[in-house]
Amino acid sequence: MAARILNGNKFRDQIYKEMEYHISALLAGGVRPGLATVLVGENPASKMYVASKIAACEQLGIKSWNHTPPATSSTKDLLTLIESLNQNNQIDGILVQLPLPIQVDSKRILESVSPAKDVDGFHPMNLGRLVTGQPGLVACTPSGVMEILRRSEIRVDGAHAVVVGRSDIVGKPMALLLLQANATVTICHSKTRDLPGTIRGADIIVAAMGRPGMISADWIKPGATVIDVGTTRVTDAALVEKLFENSPERLAKFREKRFTVIGDVHPDAAQVAGAITPVPGGVGPLTIAMLMSNTVKACEMRRDKSRYAREQAMAASVDPSPIKH
Ligand code: NAP
Repeated sequence: MAARILNGNKFRDQIYKEMEYHISALLAGGVRPGLATVLVGENPASKMYVASKIAACEQLGIKSWNHTPPATSSTKDLLTLIESLNQNNQIDGILVQLPLPIQVDSKRILESVSPAKDVDGFHPMNLGRLVTGQPGLVACTPSGVMEILRRSEIRVDGAHAVVVGRSDIVGKPMALLLLQANATVTICHSKTRDLPGTIRGADIIVAAMGRPGMISADWIKPGATVIDVGTTRVTDAALVEKLFENSPERLAKFREKRFTVIGDVHPDAAQVAGAITPVPGGVGPLTIAMLMSNTVKACEMRRDKSRYAREQAMAASVDPSPIKH
């Protein structure tokens, strides 16, 4: 039986609807949440990502500023810019679009963003809060995945979740969020010995490798939930024809456009999984939605310190006991 398709656009729209209340309350108090983006150089993919983030701000009534320093910028130039954004009280969130040019010390730049404005959730202080179960700003893609699972009523508590990928921005925070939600978590990476065997044991698979179509249908336990974070732009006709031999519509689109975006999971997995996110239209829309949500959250937290205390108390009161078998 074909899997239930977990439609990211639908969940994004729900989240935007829920955010309207928070944004109206802030506006009524004379505060408009603001996001500053920093786009260094002329990378076309980065330009496209930043444009979609700014469009989302406009849609929701969040103020945005796009800073576009040249590709020749030094670490010092960018540190000076970030410091001015940290000091600007109108700005609630700062997003530095990655990758940064080779001469720039990316880690130093990300660590220079004030943790209170770190809407990407990449600052070590926010990562530390996540590790210790304290409220803070959490990386957008993994928190978007948790929203997909929650809104699709997929049981995480007690499930065996396999996260494929261990990057600081996706795999590691993803594994921590699943652990916090009482999953038993396995993290896989390029040195994992038996990737197919490990994935076959999973109730929930989160694939975040950037290896188009690598996870084949026969690696997936029938009925498992598959969250495909991977997005790779592919122009190789032979690869696309092979992956989509059973999807004539996708093939027709590819032949027209000469490129397509492919996830890490083989398209035939939709015949085995119980639920699956499409690529595109699955995790991607949630990443932007969570960036918007983090910006509003940062705005509320900076102005209402008691929200931090309330969230901390709530986090502490979550029952960590596992399900009974
Ligand atoms: P990354 O930093 O390149 O990390 C990739 C991870 O995958 C690494 O941990 C790597 O293992 C692992 N890996 C690579 N090849 C593997 C293999 N053959 N078997 C097992 N593990 C393997 O990438 P990322 O930034 O986490 O992003 C991952 C993917 O998600 C990319 O396709 C990216 O475009 C996509 N993404 C999508 C969104 C969205 O909104 N949809 C957001 C962020 C990222 P090692 O650590 O051993 O090298």
